Amino acid sequence: MAVQLDPQLMDILACPTEDHAPLRAGTSDDPDADVLTCTACGRRYPVLDGIPVLLIEEALPPLDAVALAPLDDEASTPDTAAPARPGTPAPGTDGGA
Ligand SMILES: [Zn+2]
Repeated sequence: MAVQLDPQLMDILACPTEDHAPLRAGTSDDPDADVLTCTACGRRYPVLDGIPVLLIEEALPPLDAVALAPLDDEASTPDTAAPARPGTPAPGTDGGA
C-alpha cells in the first residue's frame, strides 16, 4: 500500500538527522513501500497507520549502505596473504658501531 500523505504535510516533514532534508514517499526500489525515504542520507522512516515515525532510532538504514556491505569477507581479511619478510636485516644504520 502506497503512502498517502498530505502534500502539505510532506512539505513540512524533514529528516530528523542533521541534514534536515525533505522526505520522499516509498523507496527507490519500492515506491509503494510504507516508508518515507530521506533524499539526503537515504534513511527510511516507517509509516504506521498513516503516521510517519520520524525517529532516528526507528529509521531503517539506507539501502545503499546495505548494498555496499561486503559479501566476500575472506577477501577483505588479509591474514595469511600478508607479505611476511623473514630475515631481511636492514643495513646497520641505527646504532651500528
Ligand atoms: Zn536524512
